[in-house]
Amino acid sequence: MTLDSKPRTAAVTVLDAVRRAARQEQFLEVVSAAEARHRFEARVDHAPCGSETLPLAAALSRVIASDVIAPVDAPPFDRANVDGFAVRAADTVGASPSASKRFALNAEVIACGVTPGIEVARGTATTIATGGVIPRGADAVVMIEHTELIEDDAAPAIDVHRAAASGQFISYAGSDIARGETLLRRGTEIGSREIGMLAACGFATVEVSRRPRVAVLSTGDELVEPGRPLRPGGVYDSNGAIIAAAVAEAGGEAVAFGAVPDDEAALERAMRQALDSCDMVVLSGGTSKGAGDLSHRVVSRLGNPGILVHGVALKPGKPLCLAVIGDKPLVVLPGFPTSAIFTFHTFVAPIIRARAGLPAEAARTVTARVPVRVPSELGREEFVLVSLVAAEDGLIAFPTGKGSGAVTAFSQADGFLAIDALASALDAETEAEVTLIGQAEHAPDLVIMGSHDVALDVVVGALAERGLRARTIAVGSLGGVNAASRGECDIAPVHLVDAATGIYNKHLLEPGLALVPGWRRMQGFVFRSGDARFEGLSAEAALQAALADPAILMVNRNAGSGTRVLIDSLLRGAKPVGYANQPRSHNAVAAAVTQHRADWGVAIEPVARLYGLAFLPIAPEHYDFLLVEARRQRPAVQAFLEVLRDETTRERIRALGMEPL
Ligand code: AMP
Ligand code: MG
Repeated sequence: MTLDSKPRTAAVTVLDAVRRAARQEQFLEVVSAAEARHRFEARVDHAPCGSETLPLAAALSRVIASDVIAPVDAPPFDRANVDGFAVRAADTVGASPSASKRFALNAEVIACGVTPGIEVARGTATTIATGGVIPRGADAVVMIEHTELIEDDAAPAIDVHRAAASGQFISYAGSDIARGETLLRRGTEIGSREIGMLAACGFATVEVSRRPRVAVLSTGDELVEPGRPLRPGGVYDSNGAIIAAAVAEAGGEAVAFGAVPDDEAALERAMRQALDSCDMVVLSGGTSKGAGDLSHRVVSRLGNPGILVHGVALKPGKPLCLAVIGDKPLVVLPGFPTSAIFTFHTFVAPIIRARAGLPAEAARTVTARVPVRVPSELGREEFVLVSLVAAEDGLIAFPTGKGSGAVTAFSQADGFLAIDALASALDAETEAEVTLIGQAEHAPDLVIMGSHDVALDVVVGALAERGLRARTIAVGSLGGVNAASRGECDIAPVHLVDAATGIYNKHLLEPGLALVPGWRRMQGFVFRSGDARFEGLSAEAALQAALADPAILMVNRNAGSGTRVLIDSLLRGAKPVGYANQPRSHNAVAAAVTQHRADWGVAIEPVARLYGLAFLPIAPEHYDFLLVEARRQRPAVQAFLEVLRDETTRERIRALGMEPL
């Protein structure tokens, strides 16, 4: 055994892994989204999964399995609607306060649940309570308020001051629910009102559709179950949770299988178990080249008819794999969260709905103007998630701007628009059709577009406490300036420095815009606490130490950010190692330093604190608001300005380490 055999084996293994990862995995045949749906739906059983009988109390939010016919009338008898007297309407003709009519009182009182025994003869009246059974002979009820009691023990009577029409204050039998009518249709989701209707007809139980059992699996060596600490390189299994919830929303019963490592044997075992115990299987992940298309390989071994579609000309969602094993649909969603949930809603949710007995969901669309150019990949139909904002001249759709790896893109979007496979971009100012997702939200009271800051959440929270809903769209300072100058938002938070003067934000003003002071955020030199190379130094000395040692790696900021202007002025033309690494946020800088991908950077103090980094203050950054003058008088804008001045808000902002102005 030679001494270097071990390293050589390791080198070969690494090389193997690199080859596998770099291999251009071929999709069997990339088809259009429409073709994929067609193939899948043609092979998948859409019939409801059968039914089960549940007690009413357990039936909330389930789905009626077959039409419910009313077996009884409601009300079951002609019923008095008020407290008063049952009479013959004809006897009251001409009655008025000045010419009342006298009625002899019959010797019974009809309370609820009492069966009347005496016919109401001409000129007589019977005392009746709300809900009482109208006695034979009577065809109207006069309210007690329109009568006067004549207290004569021998011959009790009433004087009626007002004429009554036939049918007055009577609910006739079957007027609410008529025996034989269809009370509830199959496919109706059961809410409290439906439960009330069933109970009113005497039903103690109801037949509901059985919920299809949908196995939800994730795969990935990096996945960590929420609730556990995140290890280096790990990400939380968010797909498992969001897909399970989306299954329930579509009427299914999610059976959580958790996350399986990227191991063929383990994944195959889990998938077989899922197929055995559930009606349908949804797996996410294991679809990229890095994993060598693990999920697809495993699915291809599970049985017939097997894979129907592998690869869809769709963005996001290209690696989607649709299969049927036996009679059970099996879907592999791409791992990236937005892709996963997008393809789930497009291909999987409709099947779950059908099998749960729910009707197909009609697509709700609106037309909106897209103010910016949206580049798109040729050859793939591209879906772009958008936020909708109401403008003077109609709706505007802004791309949410987050990639398919983002977890929040889908939840923050109001809808999506499609860009044709043959187009390389959607031009600015195009009118587009937007398909709405989720609940149709009413327009927000206030639209804030620009740079995001944690203290902005305090302001938005204070507005929410006043019942005002603000929509914040994080498009960066420059995006905010553009939106404000086009009048597409109410308020644009910005922090841009004028390189010529060193003054923040004033240079962004133009006619129609005002500058409202926000708060100051201290920027400084950040490094890992305990790093002896910087410990105990001033910011200037730390910077010199960093520049003097080529082993020390910096992390920069993106051009256009205020912090970048500060960094460049500190560096005075120097470009130390790491200068080219230019993430777009304070958080990304702090994460890079925390995780040893860099040794120092410039970030704001609250973020440094959040990451447990050491901080040497340099200069404050000014975070202010551009206000669209034309919108200043709107109540929500006024409330925003008030909240900014409010001492409670300012205290909360200070607690985050900012200095409100
Ligand atoms: P994959 O399809 O496994 O190659 O995954 C593509 C990307 O999606 C990777 O960045 C994964 O970390 C991420 N991803 C895969 N599965 C999940 C999941 N269950 N939750 C969150 N992210 C995931
Ligand atoms: Mg993976």
